[in-house]
Amino acid sequence: MSEEINSPGYDIPPEMQAQVRITTLDKIYNWGRRSSIWPMMFGLACCAIEMICTAASRFDFARFGMEIMRPSPRQVDLMIVSGTVTKKMAPQIVRLYNQMPEPKYVIAMGACASGGGPFKEGYNVVAGIDRYIPVDVYIPGCPPTPQALLHGFIRLMEKIDKESISTSRWYRKEPIPAIPVPILGPDIFDPRQASAITAYTQEKLAKQTQAEQAPAEPAAAPEQA
Ligand code: SF4
Repeated sequence: MSEEINSPGYDIPPEMQAQVRITTLDKIYNWGRRSSIWPMMFGLACCAIEMICTAASRFDFARFGMEIMRPSPRQVDLMIVSGTVTKKMAPQIVRLYNQMPEPKYVIAMGACASGGGPFKEGYNVVAGIDRYIPVDVYIPGCPPTPQALLHGFIRLMEKIDKESISTSRWYRKEPIPAIPVPILGPDIFDPRQASAITAYTQEKLAKQTQAEQAPAEPAAAPEQA
């Protein structure tokens, strides 16, 4: 621990090395957060089984300070999107993400969560959860192994290590707006794109009406013998 916390370049007398640490506020703050990430208890499909294995005794992500998975979004700072994101599920995922307190992170686990996977372009599947919420770490694989998920955790920790309190978005005075929950109808859409979708639909309808109202071309005259 002392090697991680101490800032290099400051000589501490040998007799004080057991009592004194010299570090920065950012370093100790990031060390505290990266060593106690609490993931949400939440799985979507086959990848979730690998996530459960990662939590169990053989791989045991409690070694990273994660301990048990929390069943409430109010108590977590990591969402692991583990599995196929269906259009029906996407609004609930965004709602859960909005309910998580800042700072919060997202791992897209597996090909489905990262880009749709084998179901990409399927009528009921979202081609990647990053279409709706920001993703910090992508883990490839179908499914990724527990080792790959552990590697993703380590990458996330490295990312947290580089953050600074002075620039973190959750320490600004302005409130962070919630992400609009996608609307599920005949298809799913992001309400932020509603005006663009309306304009596109109206243009398409106008072209269709114009084509229907255009006079039919006269039939070709029969050739003279
Ligand atoms: S990436 Fe593969 S294993 Fe993971 S949810 Fe999709 S189909 Fe299942």
